[in-house]
Amino acid sequence: MKCSKCGKEAIYHQKYSGLYLCKECFIKDVERKVRKVLGRNIIRNNMKIGVGLSGGKDSVVMTYILNKFFKPIPNSEIIVFFVDEGIKGFRKVARKFVVEFCEEYGIKYKIIPLEEEIGVSLDDIVKIAREKNLTLNPCSFCGVMRRKLLNRVALKEGCNYLAIGHNLDDMAQAVMMNYIDGAIEKLVRLGKDVEHPLLVKRIRPLKYVPEEEVQLYADLVGLKYQKEPCPYSSISYRAEISEIIDKLEDSHPGTMHSIVSGFEKLIKHLGIKMEVKTCKICGEPASGDICKVCLWMEKLGLKA
Ligand code: SF4
Ligand code: ZN
Ligand code: ZN
Repeated sequence: MKCSKCGKEAIYHQKYSGLYLCKECFIKDVERKVRKVLGRNIIRNNMKIGVGLSGGKDSVVMTYILNKFFKPIPNSEIIVFFVDEGIKGFRKVARKFVVEFCEEYGIKYKIIPLEEEIGVSLDDIVKIAREKNLTLNPCSFCGVMRRKLLNRVALKEGCNYLAIGHNLDDMAQAVMMNYIDGAIEKLVRLGKDVEHPLLVKRIRPLKYVPEEEVQLYADLVGLKYQKEPCPYSSISYRAEISEIIDKLEDSHPGTMHSIVSGFEKLIKHLGIKMEVKTCKICGEPASGDICKVCLWMEKLGLKA
């Protein structure tokens, strides 16, 4: 097959658009989608973008593209933040990928070890919860903790935005899960930026790029990333939702895009305003009187 854009040999069939793309046109197409999300208000001078880099393919591709966009712009920069949760065997490998990647591309980076921030690692937390007979899903704690630390460091570094590597599949799954749960507040948080002086605005540059294309982009550009899964990741409700969406995408290409774009249209009409409170314990932004991390730390008998 020939590339629908330039006539060269195609390497990819984009079912949802009907296009066949050669390597160069495919790479351009992914970057065009990222440019569309950011727009001229973000890709401009005097911008500092904090980037959450985990070492997995999504955040590696995101960081690579952001670096490509921002490097030539005067007085603008990206800075990588890597949260090391302290997951034995897993995070050390990720850390190596992150350090080597940043050094190869000349990107400033900061490593944030959880143990230095709160005195214990995620492995310790899981162990303490078990000893206390508390049901703790490592991913739930890890998620809120990472969000808190990334916001904290991005704020300290004076970042205008914090970039997170969620792709189109992640977005479609999150939207569907929240619809099914009737979790309106979570939907609002997903779609609207909550204004607060202590919250750095989040951007999701890959939100219109399907996971399959993120993977292909990484392989075509020759990016190295961590492939093995985290030992705590388990077959979850999200995996079930993902299976259903993948089936629909297969028989009705474009389903994922319409889930996300439909949600974005809907969210504009939702009049709910999210209130941001200040955690009574740590003084950081929270949805309730005490933030989720402090609530957990209290239960575990630890200090945040
Ligand atoms: Fe954290 Fe869960 Fe991701 Fe592991 S799989 S890094 S525990 S969120
Ligand atoms: Zn082409
Ligand atoms: Zn708190």
